[in-house]
Amino acid sequence: MSSDRPTVSHPSAGPDRRLLRGLFAALLVACAALLGAGAPARADSAGPGPTASAIVEALATAPVYVDPSFAAAVTASQQRELADRIASTGLPIKVVLVPLKKGDAFDGSAESLAAVVQERLGRPQLILLTNDQYGSWLKGTEWPNDTHQTRDAAMAVGMLKELKDAGLAARVGRAVDLIATGRGTEVYKAEAERADRAYSARPKATDGAADSSSGGSGTLLAVAAALVLAVVGAAFLMRRRRSPRHTAFTFPDAVFAADRAADEAGLRRQAAAEVLALGEAVDSADGAATPGLGRALDAYDAAGRVLDAARGIPDLAGVLALTAEGRSALAAEPSLPLCFFDPRHGAAARRTVWRPLGRRERVDVAVCEDCAQALRARRAPQVLAVRDQGRTVPYFELPADRSLWAATGYGSLLSGPDDTLAARVGTGEFTRARQQTDGHGATKG
Ligand SMILES: [Zn+2]
Repeated sequence: MSSDRPTVSHPSAGPDRRLLRGLFAALLVACAALLGAGAPARADSAGPGPTASAIVEALATAPVYVDPSFAAAVTASQQRELADRIASTGLPIKVVLVPLKKGDAFDGSAESLAAVVQERLGRPQLILLTNDQYGSWLKGTEWPNDTHQTRDAAMAVGMLKELKDAGLAARVGRAVDLIATGRGTEVYKAEAERADRAYSARPKATDGAADSSSGGSGTLLAVAAALVLAVVGAAFLMRRRRSPRHTAFTFPDAVFAADRAADEAGLRRQAAAEVLALGEAVDSADGAATPGLGRALDAYDAAGRVLDAARGIPDLAGVLALTAEGRSALAAEPSLPLCFFDPRHGAAARRTVWRPLGRRERVDVAVCEDCAQALRARRAPQVLAVRDQGRTVPYFELPADRSLWAATGYGSLLSGPDDTLAARVGTGEFTRARQQTDGHGATKG
């Protein structure tokens, strides 16, 4: 706390100053905690990664804060160049590049980071650029409102083809330029349309080896990095709203509201990026040395079809499960599917036997480390919830004939090596479940 530098100066500088300062800092932390569900209550508590104080102190004298772990991606001279570029815009732009992980001072959330930094800086007008938790996309936030189209400018930069293989420094520089022009929304829309066209024209599984121009190893690396982070994040995952008293799945309104408020657009973007990356991995795979190439192609094709028809988070999670199946087929050793309880938790760490409450039979499911710990402690894991006939239920409680995801547990409940998610999609199971669901007006993400 001693490094806190409140922007308000207290007239009563004397023996009580330290105490006042401490109280003031405590008040700031409390304010940060009250900012909302996304803001952390422990922005300065011990944990991996930098604290809000360190970031805010650095930003008091410079427009760019780069964590040492990003120093290779944005060197000291690039930081100076960015600072000059920002100065030339005359805009109140600050850049914060830090690793974000569940369990850190911001609980892995770029939104929390932005909210806390703005609060601590105490500047009513601020344009903040940060990395997202995957380290590859930028997040733009502007106060008091998005006058310079900061949000879209930051997202557009992540989609610009010419920046596909560019480093973080180049991306941030471009975002600064785009914010200065105030044309972020226009560029973002154009890029989103281009990505849609590229996606529609993507090579189909039946085309065999096809053109690999619609992406690159940069995307693949980013996706791989995202997966690694997701696995690491899952290990750190701390669920706060779960009742420790029982293992039944309960969904208080607030929990489901938070679930629904989860960034569906972000998940769609991630799913689309994973499909494209799988396509590239399939293209560059050595057919002779990859016995699973056919299965990977099937998974790629199925993931694309589900993505095209996806209507909510459960379907988009299915796209992630299908791309994971495709990657596993390409690998020398098959890997576990994504976490049974919610594929967004990332790759499963182990298989475990689980008995749903009130049922006699046990099921063998693949779970992430966090869910495994929850089960060991007889707590309910955080599950992917769906709305069904006015109720909120775990996705796996839907009747299997109405949900491919309930039938397969996103890969956990498949019956053997020949039973794959892609094969089920291929025989029309996703579409049939879709029609059933439509008939009953049931699932939605
Ligand atoms: Zn899990």
